[in-house]
Amino acid sequence: MSTQTLEEEKPTEVAVEPERTNTLNAANRCDHCGSQAYVSALLKTGILEFCGHCWNSYKAGIEPIAEVVLDERWKLTDTAKLDVSP
Ligand SMILES: [Zn+2]
Repeated sequence: MSTQTLEEEKPTEVAVEPERTNTLNAANRCDHCGSQAYVSALLKTGILEFCGHCWNSYKAGIEPIAEVVLDERWKLTDTAKLDVSP
């Protein structure tokens, strides 16, 4: 064993803004359709954000590979600002 570190490669820079991992707001848009995002998935490649509808479509594929999933769809039932069919 040498004292040389194995971490010679620079870690990939991931642009994770702290506020994005905490709370989604109107500035967060669905990466698929552009609606307001209510789910944010942190992947190794970056962050994907989804509205409730698109999350339902992509959840099965994204959830297993996401490191963190921030699900704030409870806001939809709380504020009822958007017309989202149950
Ligand atoms: Zn969408």
